[in-house]
Amino acid sequence: MIKQIIDTHAHIDQLADIQGALQRAKQAGVSDIVAVSVDLNSMGKILDLAKSVQEPNPSTSLRVSPECNRRTKIHPALGIHPGMVKEGEPAEAFDFIRSHIKEAVAIGETGLDYWYKWVRDNTEERAKQKDALAKHLQLAKEFHLPIIIHSRGAWRDCLSMAQEAGVAKALFHWYSGPVDIMKGILDSGFYVSTSPSVAYSPQSQQAMLAANVERILIETDSPVSYKDDHGGFTSEPKDVWRTLQALSRLKNIDEEKLLDMVNHNAREFFGL
Ligand SMILES: [Zn+2]
Repeated sequence: MIKQIIDTHAHIDQLADIQGALQRAKQAGVSDIVAVSVDLNSMGKILDLAKSVQEPNPSTSLRVSPECNRRTKIHPALGIHPGMVKEGEPAEAFDFIRSHIKEAVAIGETGLDYWYKWVRDNTEERAKQKDALAKHLQLAKEFHLPIIIHSRGAWRDCLSMAQEAGVAKALFHWYSGPVDIMKGILDSGFYVSTSPSVAYSPQSQQAMLAANVERILIETDSPVSYKDDHGGFTSEPKDVWRTLQALSRLKNIDEEKLLDMVNHNAREFFGL
């Protein structure tokens, strides 16, 4: 039987060939994808995609065993990416999240991004991002949902806001920040995830070496492009195997054993 794996962070609405990628994911044993959104438009697309996958296919369901006919499940996460927090839209977007909250397994992706100098120099932009993150944290708390946090360059602020909000479950996705802040994340009971970059990025590797495997999830953040031995590739959910393989090498844990652990973590974190 084919082994199963979970991609805990993919922007499936942004993939160039969505149906092809989902087909390849299924063939590669990707049982579940947490499909994160970035704005109002992507939330709508992801909810539609999740529904279309759930509907049984009448032409095959009678002839093929349920195991063979098993499709990759898509679990929507609803939120506004810190880079997409625009004037005007947030109120509408938050109303949309509330009205579709039952269809979501998580809030996200949300967070703060201070990577670019213009953001670091712009108090107003940072305040806008913080305001949006605070609202997402409130939603996560109110509806008892996990939250997916993008924290690039803003690791400390993201951690203190998550701690202050008192959310039960937070995932600092694709964590590649300072190890001391990550210790604070893990001490607060939160999780970190890593991407195919863990094969070569010193920041990703440093973080993953210091994290205990009980709190690690794996993802692709597809369609992000990564380096590999052949120059590079544009990721899709099936490439979550690359994350597993690289993490297995880095942490020197048998691949199959690691797979069981990260699958367990993902199911527990998202309640899949
Ligand atoms: Zn993302």
